[in-house]
Amino acid sequence: MNAPWPLGASTQPLNIAGHLPPDHALSPRHALQALDPKVRWLLAYAPRSAWDTDTASLPWRLQRYRYRARAFAQTHLAPAALHIDALPHSPVGEVPPEALQILREAGRQGWLSDLLPAPIGSCHWLDAPYPMVWRTCLKVEEFARACGGLMLLLCAHFLGMGPILASGQLPLMWRALRPATQANLRGEPHLFAFAITEPGAGSDAEDGHGAATNRPGLVARRQGDGWCLNGHKVFISGGDIARQITVFAALEGEGFESWTCFLVDQASPGLRAARTELKMGMRASSAAHLVFENVWVSDACVVGGLRGGWSLNRATLNLSRLPVAAMGVGLAQAAVDIAVEHACTQRLGGRPLIDFQDVQLALADMMAATSAARALVWQSARIWSPRQAVASAAKFHNTDAAMRVIEQAMDLLGEHAVLHRHRLEKLYRDARVTQIFEGTNQINRLAVIEDHQEAFAALAASARHDGDTPCATA
Ligand SMILES: Cc1cc2nc3c(=O)[nH]c(=O)nc-3n(C[C@H](O)[C@H](O)[C@H](O)COP(=O)(O)OP(=O)(O)OC[C@H]3O[C@@H](n4cnc5c(N)ncnc54)[C@H](O)[C@@H]3O)c2cc1C
Repeated sequence: MNAPWPLGASTQPLNIAGHLPPDHALSPRHALQALDPKVRWLLAYAPRSAWDTDTASLPWRLQRYRYRARAFAQTHLAPAALHIDALPHSPVGEVPPEALQILREAGRQGWLSDLLPAPIGSCHWLDAPYPMVWRTCLKVEEFARACGGLMLLLCAHFLGMGPILASGQLPLMWRALRPATQANLRGEPHLFAFAITEPGAGSDAEDGHGAATNRPGLVARRQGDGWCLNGHKVFISGGDIARQITVFAALEGEGFESWTCFLVDQASPGLRAARTELKMGMRASSAAHLVFENVWVSDACVVGGLRGGWSLNRATLNLSRLPVAAMGVGLAQAAVDIAVEHACTQRLGGRPLIDFQDVQLALADMMAATSAARALVWQSARIWSPRQAVASAAKFHNTDAAMRVIEQAMDLLGEHAVLHRHRLEKLYRDARVTQIFEGTNQINRLAVIEDHQEAFAALAASARHDGDTPCATA
C-alpha cells in the first residue's frame, strides 16, 4: 500500500538490464532463500518497499503514527499541492479555501495539537513517552513529501508553540494551548506563529555572536502593569493568520540579552500584518511582515520570565531544527519517488530509462543520500533534548542533501524537470527555502563549532602551550 513503486503487480519478467532475475539461481535473494532454515528466517528477506522496511524499524506506536501521517498527507496534501502552489498570491490574512479545508481537517484529526497529551494536547498517552521532536519529524517528513508549502502552513504552528513549551510554565500551557487544542479539534484552526526575525536581524536573531553586537529592532517599554511593543518582525511564517504569536522583544534601552518572549494576540490593537512576501517556494505558507505600534500586552503574557527570551529562543531552535532536517528528507524522498517512476516508465532509444547503468547509479546515489539523511534525523530525534551541534548538523546536512538529490532527479528528468506538473521544479523551490530559514546553513555550520567550543578551544590552548600541534608531536 505504501510502496511508491508497487511490487509484484507486473506479469513481465521482474529484472532490469544488467541484473539477474530474482528467481535465477545466482541472484542474491534466491541465494538467501537457499540457506539452511535455521538461519534463513534471520538472514533471508521478502521483497518490501524501503518505506515499509524503515517503518518496521520503529517502535510499534510510532509505526502506526507514521502510517497515519502518510495516509493524511496522501489523501489531503498531495492532491492539492500543485494547484495551491500555482494560485495567485493570497491577500494578507487570507488562506485559499482549499488550504483552509486542509487546515480544518488537520485540526479535526489532531495533527495540530499532538505535541502534548490530553487534556492540554491531543497526543495519545501511549505515544507521549516518545520524544515530541521524534514524532514531529515523522509527521513533517510525510507532509513535506506530499507538499512543502502545506507542510509549513501546518507545522510552523509548532514553532510558535515552542517557547511556551520550553518555558515549562504549566499554567500558561493550560491557559494558552488547551483552548487552541479544543478549537483545532472542532475544525476551527487556531495557529501559533514564532517571531524572532527583524529587518536588521536575521542571523543575529539565531546566533549569539551577531546578537551581541546588533541593536534590537523590536522594543518593549514598561507601561502600567504590562508592556508596550514597538517595531517590526519580518518573514514570520503564518504571522498574518496565526491567532497568537510568540514575539521576542528587547527591554527598552537594553540589548538582545534582555530579550523577552511575549504571547501576543493577533487581534491586539496596534498590531498589523503590513504585507506577506511573494516568495519562490513553500508558497502555501505565508511569510508576514508584522508592524507593532504601541501594542500593549499584560505581564501575564510574558513567556518564561523577563529577560528569559534568549534562552527560550535557543531551546526552541534546538527542537525545531531537527524537523527542518526532516523536511529535507521528505523533499528528497519525493524527488527519489518521481525519478524512479520516470526511469521505469520513460523509454530512450526503445529501452526503458532504468536499463541504462548510469541512470541506475544516479538512482542508487539518491536513495542512499535520502536514507542517510533519514537515519541522521531518526538517530538524533530519539532523545528528548537534542543538543545544538546535533540539531544544526542535521539541519544543514539534510537540506543540502535534499537540494543535491533534487538536482540529480532534475538531471534525470531533463525537460520534464522544468514542468510544474512534474512537481520537481516545485520541490526545488521548496527545498531551497529550507537552506535559508531556521538560520542559514552557514549559521548552522557555525553553530556546530560553537557547541564544541570548549573542547576545541582547550585543544587549541594546549597546542599553543606545548608550542606544537598534537599531531606533530605524536
Ligand atoms: C520562507 C521563510 C520563512 C521564515 N519563517 C520565519 C519564522 O516563522 N519566524 C522567524 O522569526 N523568522 C523566519 N524566517 C527568517 C529566517 O529565519 C531568516 O531569513 C534566516 O535566519 C536568515 O536571516 P537573513 O535572511 O536576515 O540573513 P542574514 O542574516 O542577512 O545573512 C546573510 C548572509 O550572511 C551570512 N552570515 C550572517 N552572519 C554571519 C556570520 N556571523 N558568519 C558567517 N556568515 C554570516 C548568512 O549565512 C547569509 O549567507 C523565515 C525566512 C524564510 C525565507
